[in-house]
Amino acid sequence: MNWLSNFVRPKIQALVSSQKDVPENLWKKCPSCEGMLFHRDLDAADNVCYHCGHHLAIDIYKRCELLFDEGNYKRVSVNKVPVDPLKFKDKKRYADRLKDSQTKTKEKDAIMVAHGKIGGCDTVIAAFDFRFMGGSMGMAVGEGIVTAAKEAVKRKAALIVVPSSGGARMQEGMLSLMQMPRSIIAVDMVKEEGLPYVVLLTNPTTGGVSASFAMVGDIHISEPGAMIGFAGKRVIQETIREELPEDFQTAEYLLEHGMIDMVVERKDLNEKIGSILSMLMGKKAPQKSKKGGNGKDSDGNGKNLSAKEKKADKTSYAGSVAVKNEPFVAPDAPANETQASKKRARS
Ligand SMILES: [Zn+2]
Repeated sequence: MNWLSNFVRPKIQALVSSQKDVPENLWKKCPSCEGMLFHRDLDAADNVCYHCGHHLAIDIYKRCELLFDEGNYKRVSVNKVPVDPLKFKDKKRYADRLKDSQTKTKEKDAIMVAHGKIGGCDTVIAAFDFRFMGGSMGMAVGEGIVTAAKEAVKRKAALIVVPSSGGARMQEGMLSLMQMPRSIIAVDMVKEEGLPYVVLLTNPTTGGVSASFAMVGDIHISEPGAMIGFAGKRVIQETIREELPEDFQTAEYLLEHGMIDMVVERKDLNEKIGSILSMLMGKKAPQKSKKGGNGKDSDGNGKNLSAKEKKADKTSYAGSVAVKNEPFVAPDAPANETQASKKRARS
């Protein structure tokens, strides 16, 4: 016994503890195929499993980087809203839950609004941060969508919302539910201006979010395998007492049943959305020629660029082919450009 406890046990303990020294967060297990994913490789693959193609969660900054051309975007600040108006408390105070999420994510709430270009088209994105209380929609998120819609109208830009949410934020009660009609009115403002409103559904989009703005887009795109629905599968199964198909509520199932327009892999999103936007915004020819030079001068200076576009548009309506090519003669030299536009004005 002595030999066992004095010799073997310390040896085993030493072995086990030396294994513990390897940081656990270097590897991640794919929730779909259970393959091991090295964090650096996973990062390089934009959080898509390189064994089976499963799309893992991605943070909002990386999301915006992937969606916007050359990863260039500028954040739009969202107005403050009253914090915890109901002084709600369940197991924990809502104010504390908010603080915890704020420390964890370093964000004020579960939404980020940014603007930039996609496929050369002015675009405003409102992206949900699932890490922040499950991306739930409270007043701050509603405010974010309203801000994004207003920004899109102001810039004559397309609006893209990227929900990743469990639904309404119950801690805000009725005020949370009010965000459903509020967000609908917000996206309607964009539609009334004749600007495209695209929804990029990501895993998961459920509850009040799927029951409001997320299902009224002009185009619905989804990432592969995303869970999209109102109530969960189990709840529906128990209510209707019927067995539901294996892939129920997945992006692919919804595509098959005509609920969404396309399922696009993460790596192709920028290109696909870019081509859709340039088609919808009717700027195909100038956009194509601008795309090359755009990378150099797209420093997020949206205002100047959209003004430039307006000029390009007006002149192209005049029917001159030569003018169409002008924007990419000297795209990154503002002095030349004003001269060019003056010339255009004269002619
Ligand atoms: Zn996998």
